[in-house]
Amino acid sequence: MTKEVATPTRKIIHVDMDAFYASVEQRDNPELRGKPVAVGSPVARGVVAAASYEARVFGVRSAMPSVTAARQCPDLIFVKPRFEVYRAVSMQIRSIFAEYTPLIEPLSLDEAYLDVTENLKGIAIATDIATEIRARIKQVTGLNASAGISYNKFLAKMASDLNKPNGQAVISPKNGPAFVEGLPVKKFHGVGPATAKKMAALGIETGADLKEKSVEFLTDHFGKSGPHFHGIARGIDNRQVRPDRERKSVGAEDTFAIDIADLEAAKRELVPLVAKVWRYCAGHAIAAKTVTVKIRFADFQIITRSRTVPTAFPNENAILTAAITLLEAAYPFRKSVWLLGVTLSSLGHSNVPSATQLEFLL
Ligand SMILES: [Mg+2]
Repeated sequence: MTKEVATPTRKIIHVDMDAFYASVEQRDNPELRGKPVAVGSPVARGVVAAASYEARVFGVRSAMPSVTAARQCPDLIFVKPRFEVYRAVSMQIRSIFAEYTPLIEPLSLDEAYLDVTENLKGIAIATDIATEIRARIKQVTGLNASAGISYNKFLAKMASDLNKPNGQAVISPKNGPAFVEGLPVKKFHGVGPATAKKMAALGIETGADLKEKSVEFLTDHFGKSGPHFHGIARGIDNRQVRPDRERKSVGAEDTFAIDIADLEAAKRELVPLVAKVWRYCAGHAIAAKTVTVKIRFADFQIITRSRTVPTAFPNENAILTAAITLLEAAYPFRKSVWLLGVTLSSLGHSNVPSATQLEFLL
């Protein structure tokens, strides 16, 4: 038996709206109620942004190509997204959260972590707070939310999925470690498909497998995430709930296994970076006017080149074109390239998403 150092147990709630965009559409249009609905466009390269529970019965999921979704569910009704409405509902939900705690960290328009250890209403039991918040959300917006209650962010997030839709679940300090041990790592929040595959190749399929690996081993294989994985395998996650701050920039960068000396090769490396920042912006209804390309050379010199446009970039391709122009201006390279980064800034709200934006919406 190991004795844990006594630290005051935190109370974290993860609130997640059920099928958010689709539920808003069903709320506002009675004809859609009880029917399989996909928010998104049925065009050839379109993607489902959100699916109603009736559509999920047919296997329709968000991020699925619209064509696939329509094949799996022939009666599927496609509805155009209305981000200005989703954003307004999101603000209503956040003001409900703010009645309970100032420690609110939104993950997207429809989910947030709340630290209610010291809550404004002096309610002792976090489960009661979650019940109240969900009732208030229903009363104010007419929509269902689910919640997870636990002693850290990782477990609260996992818990909110357990009794979805319109439910909540608690993972207590006593149950946390066993819960994680039994969970497949591919279900862990923060373990994407690529990491899950890498873990599988190392013989890590469940939390119990992960727990057997040393922090050194995990750091060797997963870098900065190693200590985090080592902690969550034991139900430990010390990340704080970071209160709502407006994001100033959205960035992605990649260090290359092989130095890149060639302009065409460097241009190709920009494609996934632009795709990543664009996907984030589209998913959070963020518009950007400035793109910055960062280049780190083999001699450790770093240069950045920026371009600002008068109106927000309309689509991924416009960002890529601007990024390529910036890269070309830095060519010939002083040394081979070790790292490339793409950052979007001068951010605002994108209330009218373009068709292209929707295609990349996840
Ligand atoms: Mg949700």
